[in-house]
Amino acid sequence: MSQSPRIAFIGLGHMGAPMAANLHKAGRDVTGFDLSANAMAAAKDAGVPVADSARAAIRGAQVVISMLPASRHVEGLYLGDDGILPHIEDGAIILECSTIAPASAKKVAAAAEARGLAAIDAPVSGGVAGASAGTLTFIVGGSDAALERARPILQDMGKNIFHMGDAGAGQVAKLCNNMALGAIMAVTGEAIALGVAHGLDAKTLSDMMAVSTSRSWATEVCNPWPGVMENAPASRGYEGGFGNDLMLKDLGLAAEAAMRVGATIPLGEMARNLYALNHNVGRGHLDFSSVVQLVLEKTD
Ligand code: NAD
Repeated sequence: MSQSPRIAFIGLGHMGAPMAANLHKAGRDVTGFDLSANAMAAAKDAGVPVADSARAAIRGAQVVISMLPASRHVEGLYLGDDGILPHIEDGAIILECSTIAPASAKKVAAAAEARGLAAIDAPVSGGVAGASAGTLTFIVGGSDAALERARPILQDMGKNIFHMGDAGAGQVAKLCNNMALGAIMAVTGEAIALGVAHGLDAKTLSDMMAVSTSRSWATEVCNPWPGVMENAPASRGYEGGFGNDLMLKDLGLAAEAAMRVGATIPLGEMARNLYALNHNVGRGHLDFSSVVQLVLEKTD
């Protein structure tokens, strides 16, 4: 890859905007595009140049990064009737960072390869805070050669890079992580609720768990109980953070991935139902840790 390849960044939402801003801050020649006027305005405010369309953004770009909501958006962007794949510059590389179905990631990678382009799936962990701080973990599927081309750019947006295998493997690993996270968050909330129902103090209980055998991201970083952690979404009405509906999407993808290989994921399926219930009672837009509220609501 040349010293400073032109980068097109498609999808300037909660994650994409700070990621593109970090590339810009690192001195990269990056041009963004988003279908939402608000997202475009916010990216511009952060200093990221924007183009009027995805086609305009990819003109002259040797690197195309996408950070979109779900599989259908990604397939639509690259492969749809008006897809950009035929218009990407020869020799370019695609870094697909959204969390999507492994089968979709493979489909996009195969189509890119058929066009003579390199591609990796590189979903991320670390949330909006990690995207803003440039400390994301990239979970990569694709060839060694493609990852080595992408590495310097990924390093401008993150601090850890894991190569999981061929195309789609990054998405499989991301789903494994989020399935475990979803179940752990839900059961941590239940455990604290049980303790509180017995008169325990939620903070003391959480502090003990955070240094004991049930410690996890849920006890150390994002406690689901209001007031236990000042900076956790639970202490600000579950606003911000990682949305319930994004967790629900990831658990649906995990269920789909399990069915493809006949894997049994009883707790993953149960967690998916809990986040679906949380969506149904109107908390889809709130942080996923709000799932704890399900066990606190009285029906009588
Ligand atoms: P978001 O909804 O904030 O942003 C997605 C953006 O894509 C939106 O601004 C939307 O307008 C834009 N978009 C959709 N289709 C488009 C198209 N065809 N062309 C251009 N723009 C288009 O979502 P997000 O929170 O930034 O998440 C993005 C991805 O990252 C998702 O797959 C999500 O699961 C994953 N992720 C999110 C988090 C998090 O904490 N938010 C953490 C890890 C991974």
